[in-house]
Amino acid sequence: MMIILRPGTTEDKIAQLDEFVRKTGVEVQRIQGQDTTILGLSGDTSRIDPGMFDIFECVERTVKVAEPYKKANRKYHPQNTVIKAGNVEIGGNKIVVMAGPCSVESEAQVLSVARDCKRSGAAVLRGGAFKPRSSPYAFQGLGLDGLEMLKVAGRKTGMPIVSEIMSTEYIEQFERDVDIIQVGARNMQNFVLLRELSHIHKPILLKRGLAATVEELLMAAEYIMAGGNDQVILCERGIRTFETYTRNTLDLSVVPVLKRQSHLPVVVDPSHGTGLWWMVEPMSKAAIAAGADGLIIEVHNDPPHAKCDGQQSLTPMVFDKLMGSLRMIAQVEGRDI
Ligand code: PEP
Ligand code: MN
Repeated sequence: MMIILRPGTTEDKIAQLDEFVRKTGVEVQRIQGQDTTILGLSGDTSRIDPGMFDIFECVERTVKVAEPYKKANRKYHPQNTVIKAGNVEIGGNKIVVMAGPCSVESEAQVLSVARDCKRSGAAVLRGGAFKPRSSPYAFQGLGLDGLEMLKVAGRKTGMPIVSEIMSTEYIEQFERDVDIIQVGARNMQNFVLLRELSHIHKPILLKRGLAATVEELLMAAEYIMAGGNDQVILCERGIRTFETYTRNTLDLSVVPVLKRQSHLPVVVDPSHGTGLWWMVEPMSKAAIAAGADGLIIEVHNDPPHAKCDGQQSLTPMVFDKLMGSLRMIAQVEGRDI
């Protein structure tokens, strides 16, 4: 961190600031330019709020040099993190496709979709039991009954399951029944939830918030990791922009950024990222080409009658065709699927 002082700052003002800064427990080095004086801070600056120095009139601005995320940072952990969920590894050479309905609607529905997805090559079964809906009048999910149905379908097909948690109330249940716990976009900065999830030993699929920056996403991951749970999978699922043609703007440029800045696996959700079923194939291909470690895709047995997100769901037949083309892209990238 560097504090840039205003031109003409007197020596006694610099000494006062220097003393204040040292009290935070860091070292201070002075850099003297012709017109500008800079105080360089070294040591553990992660707990320092750069804004705290603005109360000194002599401070022009403070610049952060090191990233505030440590555990999620590739700098301190150069190798890719590989996360195990059941018999599936996420973050290795193999691209992991997670597929299933937006929400679990019945035991027969989730089982039939699970069987089709498995046959086409999906490795993980997705399905929402607790649904974060914009309208309180829309279908909210089957709750614990839905979770049980997903669990049965996972067991019958031999696939690990991923499902969204919406509150701390069901953590024990999720820890017991689910292989990967999803934190949805709307809860990416639910710090109470993140903190609770940091104390358990389960992989967490952390979705990027609707308007979250890369740093905010990585700081949310840091919350989970800071408490001791280092099994975090990052997920790009589209962000809110001025564009209205697509449901969200799928920010694939974030994939190489996250892979560069962090050692955590990166998964892309082209279903919520675009909101349109026919965009799922091109965006999935692009995600793999961009370096994603996996995809999470909505598949429904009868999209026109889906209780949630039918317009962005693939039929099992379209999903099967998609898997065929993804195999070719993966091969070009030197990866398995
Ligand atoms: C979902 O995966 O069903 C979901 C609600 O996703 P998001 O949190 O990205 O909107
Ligand atoms: Mn959905």
